[in-house]
Amino acid sequence: MKSELLESSNDYLTQAMKAYVKKTKLVYYKKYTQCTIWGYSIKKNKIYELCGKRIKKLYNDLFKDFGITLKHLNVVLVDCPDHRKFIDDTFYINGGFTYLGGDVVYIYRYDEMLKVALHEVIHHAFFFKEKALYSGDPIRPNVTINFNEALVEFLATLYQLKYTHNTVKNELKHSLNCVKNVVNMPNMVFTTQLYSYIVIKHLLLKKHKLILRYIKNKQYDKIYQYVYNTKINIKPSFINLANKQLTFVSASYE
Ligand SMILES: [Zn+2]
Repeated sequence: MKSELLESSNDYLTQAMKAYVKKTKLVYYKKYTQCTIWGYSIKKNKIYELCGKRIKKLYNDLFKDFGITLKHLNVVLVDCPDHRKFIDDTFYINGGFTYLGGDVVYIYRYDEMLKVALHEVIHHAFFFKEKALYSGDPIRPNVTINFNEALVEFLATLYQLKYTHNTVKNELKHSLNCVKNVVNMPNMVFTTQLYSYIVIKHLLLKKHKLILRYIKNKQYDKIYQYVYNTKINIKPSFINLANKQLTFVSASYE
């Protein structure tokens, strides 16, 4: 199952990460009615069992909360040790991927594996607008954003908070710090979806109850409008981001 992670056409992993994937063996396998978990590592890893339980919960919650029945997914997990950084490059930002036409979800980073697993599975439940222009940034006149990524990350964050018994209020503090860092990144044009994952998600989290209601009622245009109408009130400063680790959510490891 891990073969796709090693294909040269896939540019999500660095050569070092691919070298790690090559060394791993299947150390955990479990077939649930909802999904099948394939966990690869160089040692036994307790996180894979927890991942499976979380994903099972998510299947139930997506049905309860939105009436959505997801297809059976094969979830491939690899615990690459490389950390995220505030560098606008897929190698430093992403932790998983999936193709909507297929039935396989890949998560290849140990950091935030539980949350990334939720994110990739949620991709199979919703589809929002993928391209839009946001003009509420304090430095850049326009930023190309992806509502689909921001909203999927928003939902993944809410479920991660629920499963780790954390509050949105706490998460907003962590999230705001990340926003400050991202806004202060020097590049004018982002090549990854970092801005959507962090900045746009933060705007959604601030109005989480309203946004959830809009999603339930399929009033997606109202969500887009809310974001367009919201400006970020942060003065640019010069934060040194060199080697600073990036975590998308504060409740990552529980
Ligand atoms: Zn995504």
